[in-house]
Amino acid sequence: MSEKKIHISPIKNGTAIDHLPVGTSLKILEAINVNDATCTAAMNVESKKMGRKDILFIEGKELNETEMDKIRILGKNGTMNIIKDSKISKKESIDYPNEAKGILTCANEKCITNKEGLITKFSLKKNPLSAKCFYCEKSMDKKEIMNSIKKG
Ligand SMILES: [Zn+2]
Repeated sequence: MSEKKIHISPIKNGTAIDHLPVGTSLKILEAINVNDATCTAAMNVESKKMGRKDILFIEGKELNETEMDKIRILGKNGTMNIIKDSKISKKESIDYPNEAKGILTCANEKCITNKEGLITKFSLKKNPLSAKCFYCEKSMDKKEIMNSIKKG
């Protein structure tokens, strides 16, 4: 019996994100504004490196920094490949950003960002992941952060 493999044709212009933890591809699609982009998600794919993984292809859209930071929070340890004219123009090992601007909703209901709709700003710390609101200094742990990512 031959090994079962998934073949996906490479994209011409867009972003390919590999080695995502299983279940992450859908969360990323929820968090970014995909507009007219063509998105292909391969979920629960066998991986030599990590057992099981997700792969996500976003074709025909250039991600902005806010969207990339959402991916950096959701897809830690994955690999983000920016593809231009069928070639990898930039490769990035995904790690948490130091700052999250306009990405998270503050868990403090009384925070000025919630009351007056200001753009949120958090400083992030790794190991373990935590985020501190620039305005009210509310601290959020990893679970709260994952639940507070704004939808695209
Ligand atoms: Zn706050």
